[in-house]
Amino acid sequence: MATPMTTHQWYVTAQWYTWQNERGHLHRTPTGPAHAKTFGAATTACGLTCDSWTKFWHLPYLGAKSIERCRECDLVISRGPMTNSSSAVPRRGPASR
Ligand SMILES: [Zn+2]
Repeated sequence: MATPMTTHQWYVTAQWYTWQNERGHLHRTPTGPAHAKTFGAATTACGLTCDSWTKFWHLPYLGAKSIERCRECDLVISRGPMTNSSSAVPRRGPASR
């Protein structure tokens, strides 16, 4: 049985935040680059210790479009989990016809 692709859910975490009033509700919004973090992890995807940072569990990192995202986190996530990284990027040799 093939299990559906179980990727870690990435959430936004940030060192600083600001309060934003949205339709009468106050929301915390990350200021500065938002980093990605999985639940229970002590570091961001890019390897920063984020214990004391604000976690935005309601904000999926990949869905966060209106905020500035950490480039390194983006890279790590787009690279995927390290577990099966032995498969190299398929290389195209010289055109063979
Ligand atoms: Zn990051």
